[in-house]
Amino acid sequence: MAAEKIVMNGEGKLTVPDHVTIPFIEGDGIGPDVWRASKMVLDAAVEKCYNNKRRIEWLEMLAGEKAFNQTGEWLPAATLDIAREYLVSIKGPLTTPVGGGIRSLNVALRQELDLYACVRPVRWFHGVPSPVVHPENVDMVIFRENTEDIYAGIEFASGTPEAERLLKFLQGEPGMMKKIRFPDSSGFGIKPVSKDGSERLIRAAILYALEHHLPTVTLVHKGNIMKYTEGAFKIWGYALAEREFGDKVYTWQQWENAKKTHDEDTANKELKQAKAHGKLIINDVIADNFLQQILLAPKDYSVVATLNLNGDYISDATAAAVGGIGIAPGANINYLTGHAVFEATHGTAPRFADTDTMNPSSLLLSGVMMLEYIGWHEAAVAITEALGVTIMRKRVTIDFYNLMHDATLLKTSEFAHEIIKNIK
Ligand code: NAD
Repeated sequence: MAAEKIVMNGEGKLTVPDHVTIPFIEGDGIGPDVWRASKMVLDAAVEKCYNNKRRIEWLEMLAGEKAFNQTGEWLPAATLDIAREYLVSIKGPLTTPVGGGIRSLNVALRQELDLYACVRPVRWFHGVPSPVVHPENVDMVIFRENTEDIYAGIEFASGTPEAERLLKFLQGEPGMMKKIRFPDSSGFGIKPVSKDGSERLIRAAILYALEHHLPTVTLVHKGNIMKYTEGAFKIWGYALAEREFGDKVYTWQQWENAKKTHDEDTANKELKQAKAHGKLIINDVIADNFLQQILLAPKDYSVVATLNLNGDYISDATAAAVGGIGIAPGANINYLTGHAVFEATHGTAPRFADTDTMNPSSLLLSGVMMLEYIGWHEAAVAITEALGVTIMRKRVTIDFYNLMHDATLLKTSEFAHEIIKNIK
């Protein structure tokens, strides 16, 4: 039977054929090494779990240096067409072209497909070297808004006519000029944060938490300083949770209200009851405090919804606690259209290109997220368990080997074979 495309059905759910075509970008630098290894494991797991009843047909899309060398373009239109048409794809790391029109190929892909949720699960695998004492307490999924905030790229360099025009506008606004310490030499950046953009991200985080029976969604923001962007994110988030999810959730806002209308004891009783009834608790934490909480009390957090820039810092900080970028997976998803690009979170590490030495776990675990996303849970679980066993047996690539006692050093390809051997 010929391979078929994944499509979105009328109910907004993916229809995934058993013999499915999935496009991939192998990536630059270490991309081909880690992609080859990941593909090998993904194929082996699907074969072992479904006995040829299910199969992935991989379709290559060109992007990055390979695309540039073959077509003269970093991100050919054909690649975007394929990613759009096939809905779900996976990619290795891409070089960021220096100069020229494209800021970043990853950003271009996210914008083209409006992939508004950057989803990063962060968990520890037993034995992975970590700088924290109890990395096993870190088990979170971070939902980072991917299309707004300071990343919108609206910036005006100091001394340009654009900066002048903005200053002129601000001169007309009462009290504004006093807020700019050195108007003549200031550059400016604009931070758009919308209700629509915040709501779709927070909705995705809540749905994920409910589907996976997780206890909390934490809105992380810097609303004490940026009231109408980050503060609004929190307010919109609580309102959405109460409006759309009703008695499936209990929010800190409701707790605050109970405290005001009754007293603290009554509010605490309400919260306790909500937890006892398995309601999803929606709370919020200020971003700087959150960065210390993930070190001090990571167990208190399970799903995190946050804005673009906070999400950038938080993803790397939490990834570091569980072993760093060599093992942290990621996905960029539009839950409304179904479009999703699963990707390694590290870069191309060009110094190590074609050495067959780097850790393929980041891309492989992104593949695992992809299998979960398309509903092939058995294969996803099989790979996760086999990877866990391989690391626990200390048969690892150089990044982990250098930090472990009595480990066996494996090449990227050998590590993949080892995982395959451990698939049950
Ligand atoms: P990098 O992630 O490529 O490498 C930094 C260091 O991390 C490497 O020198 C290596 O020691 C380690 N490392 C990275 N991946 C590893 C792996 N799989 N296993 C073991 N160790 C690993 O970051 P960089 O050097 O800042 O960026 C290089 C290029 O990659 C740049 O062009 C950058 O723009 C691009 N980049 C792409 C993406 C992406 O495509 N998603 C992300 C980040 C950077």
